[in-house]
Amino acid sequence: MSGVGETMRAAVLRGREDVVIETVPAPHAGPGEVVLRVRAALTCGTDAKVFRRGSHAKMLQPPCLFGHEYAGVVYEVGEGVTKFAVGDEVVGANSAPCGACDPCRRGRESLCDDLLFVNGAFAERLLLPARLVERNLYLRPAGLEPAAAAAVEPVACVLKGVELVAPEARETVLLLGSGSIALFFASELRSRGVDVALLARCADVEPLARRMGVGDVIVAESVTDGFDAIRARSPGGRGFDVVVEAAGAAETTEAAPRLARKGGRVLLFGGCASDVRVTIDPARLHYEEIQILSSFHHTPRHVKAALDALAGGRIDPRPVMESPVGLDALPSALRRMITRELRGKVPVIPL
Ligand SMILES: [Zn+2]
Ligand SMILES: [Zn+2]
Repeated sequence: MSGVGETMRAAVLRGREDVVIETVPAPHAGPGEVVLRVRAALTCGTDAKVFRRGSHAKMLQPPCLFGHEYAGVVYEVGEGVTKFAVGDEVVGANSAPCGACDPCRRGRESLCDDLLFVNGAFAERLLLPARLVERNLYLRPAGLEPAAAAAVEPVACVLKGVELVAPEARETVLLLGSGSIALFFASELRSRGVDVALLARCADVEPLARRMGVGDVIVAESVTDGFDAIRARSPGGRGFDVVVEAAGAAETTEAAPRLARKGGRVLLFGGCASDVRVTIDPARLHYEEIQILSSFHHTPRHVKAALDALAGGRIDPRPVMESPVGLDALPSALRRMITRELRGKVPVIPL
């Protein structure tokens, strides 16, 4: 058990492109809470964005701990915790819904009015609030290594998005974006017998994309310049059955409906910055019955399903992972992520 006055090493976000590994007070578990010893934490696109911007409007104001994809072993349990015990190997999501607000009661927990976010996984220990312990923490399945289990959060987001567009076998889905999350999408779609095309800026992602289930890698400098050539790659040149925007950019958001076939679906998955505006063609959306769908975040149901998908091997996140690093190498890894020298997820092993 940890004692008062104990310290730990943790990554502290201090501002723009400023992350320092510091010695900070170790957390202690209050009533209902759990403290983990972090076994593995993964970087994600959001972390690179936060590092570049120095903050996150909803989640993080410096100085603060960060990192939100994790697996660990229970180190301390607070009073009243009955679901978990010291020594349990666990994995959790990065948020917990309240369960009581209007969206939660409708089963739309990603829209919870009071969604509680957890950050601080790039550290030796991580404090999990009572609500998260209650609603979104799970035993790590045997055989699933910690770094792979830590991918549960992005995979949960993907499963929720896939469920919404409900692609049928032999439909063709175009993914706009080639980050890890787009590659997880490809894996899940392929396992459902869906044909997957993916738009990438450079050809070097092709071997990895193919390994993750992409059948057709379309390389174009930009979606605007390559538009006709991209559309020509759809079945019969009619447009794709489903287009998933997974880049969070204005250009791909605007192009997505134009790349869908008549009666096709578009999924806005990437999440644009709040000041982005795009032009749409409502006549075409109407007369060609193109549906625009949006998916944000995940729900506890999708987190559980993601854990099953990872444990059963339906989605194998390992090909998209870079070599593991210690906590001290995190700042340089983040720097190499924003220069795109590192494309995959970096497993950080704090101890
Ligand atoms: Zn993430
Ligand atoms: Zn709620």
